[in-house]
Amino acid sequence: MILEEQTCVVTGASRGIGRGIATELGSNGANVVVNYRSSESEAHEVVDEIEAAGGRAIAVQADVADFDAVASMGEATHDAFGAPDVLVNNAGLTIDKTFANMTREDWDRVMDVNLGGVYNCTKVFFEDLKDADEGRLINISSVVGQQGNYGQANYATTKSGLFGFTRTIALEMARSGSTANCVAPGFVETDMLEVVPDRVQEKIIERIPLGRFATVDDVSGIVRFLASKESSYMTGQILGVNGGMEW
Ligand code: NAP
Repeated sequence: MILEEQTCVVTGASRGIGRGIATELGSNGANVVVNYRSSESEAHEVVDEIEAAGGRAIAVQADVADFDAVASMGEATHDAFGAPDVLVNNAGLTIDKTFANMTREDWDRVMDVNLGGVYNCTKVFFEDLKDADEGRLINISSVVGQQGNYGQANYATTKSGLFGFTRTIALEMARSGSTANCVAPGFVETDMLEVVPDRVQEKIIERIPLGRFATVDDVSGIVRFLASKESSYMTGQILGVNGGMEW
């Protein structure tokens, strides 16, 4: 129970990687705020799963791109568990198109969620993380932010942006003994990968030295480590979890 008495907010925790992170943190003793935007029943399943394992959790609806909604999530978090110790900025989406076909709307929505959401959530919980006994900010980026990827100019830009954000916030949090780190997964078996055509998936696998996609568990274990006191002397780092892909 290495996260006993810790409160963790996980954005985009109704499905995929965020769901895996929420259940992993919950099963290690944390109180978990399970944020979601539209998948209400899935978010409640995550809460049930954490409670069935003996933990405590609440589901909170908020579009991370909406500052007022995130501020309300901040209030709900304080009401349920007090100030959080850990924020995992995981919520993200793709709108894939070649740049020639990408509209300003496609660009803006991905910016608003993947970077605007990170601003909103970090802003709302920033003082809590600094005041915590070793607060933790963990941003979920992507190998795509390191390598770029055909048809993902908007998404890759947001995921690269998290590197500069993480390193800067790490400096601004350091005096308080809190840390900020970034996890850059490779290609992970979730709904996000499901929409990639099979022939493209086969080509991607050829580029992965370990010869397989990541599972959600491959990523959630790293986040559990970063959330724990075991990572006390790591800050401003980018951890690749990508099966050995070069960047
Ligand atoms: P996913 O299966 O599509 O799940 C996305 C999650 O984010 C859902 O819980 C969704 O909630 C939530 N979400 C989306 N927009 C939101 C918003 N505006 N406000 C709040 N929640 C929102 O995606 P995933 O594969 O787990 O990806 C999770 C993170 O890992 C993303 O940041 C992604 O960029 C990153 N990542 C994924 C991969 C991959 O290969 N899958 C690789 C590297 C990095 P609702 O369903 O409730 O809307």
